[in-house]
Amino acid sequence: MTWRASILTLFPEMFPGPLGLSLAGRALAGGTWALDAHDIRSFATDRHRTVDDTPAGGGAGMVMRPDVLDTAIGGVMPEGDTRPLIYLTPRGRLLDQSMVRSLAEGPGCVLLCGRYEGIDQRVIDARDMVEVSIGDYVLSGGETAALVLLDACIRLLPGVMGAADSAAEESHGAEGLLEYPHYTRPAEWQGRTIPDVLLSGHHAEIARWRRAESEKITRERRPDLWARHDAMHGGAGAIARHPAAA
Ligand code: SAM
Repeated sequence: MTWRASILTLFPEMFPGPLGLSLAGRALAGGTWALDAHDIRSFATDRHRTVDDTPAGGGAGMVMRPDVLDTAIGGVMPEGDTRPLIYLTPRGRLLDQSMVRSLAEGPGCVLLCGRYEGIDQRVIDARDMVEVSIGDYVLSGGETAALVLLDACIRLLPGVMGAADSAAEESHGAEGLLEYPHYTRPAEWQGRTIPDVLLSGHHAEIARWRRAESEKITRERRPDLWARHDAMHGGAGAIARHPAAA
């Protein structure tokens, strides 16, 4: 079944954007996934196609109206549509690889991209939206966040990535570790060489080296991930073995 993304936005021309190229673009052309982007403004009913209004209680900026958004959602999600309705917002749960994996395993998603100060709370509640943030910073609109979320999901769809196991060992995989460093030819570049073990042909040694590098990088750069990984493997060891992770 085709994984389908529907986008509600004031700027439908931003899609598929970069997702029309490379792996995602080939998968889109091949029918592995499908995309429909809808202009929220086309669901407004007044002469000026108004989608926003001033914030109740005063203050800066504008807020997107619940009635227009609700009509737009009804227009793209027919009765019985089981896809999650996601509102991209800096107030949402942080997008991570486990959320991406579970979205990629489902039928697709409906993504609502906010603009201005955001959207009226009542439509979030009434439509039971899943609120998702792509990071602790504020973008000018949800479209770039939607592209990020889609990119992360699409590359996990069956057949999209070249090698079947390219997702198996990468960062944020099942073990929750960051990836080891990569090298390629030339064997020496600007006086810098490739670690001997990678040229040794000993697969078990190479796997051991990569695992050790993964653990080291995760410990040094992301003590939060390291602590979680350690807890998965019995706990307490991260702090006992590596005081820097405490
Ligand atoms: N007033 C909002 C706040 O302080 O939380 C920010 C509104 S932002 C200027 C406009 C829109 O960009 C939001 O409605 C949301 O759709 C999107 N957006 C901004 N930052 C985002 C983030 N980190 N993750 C996901 N969407 C984001």
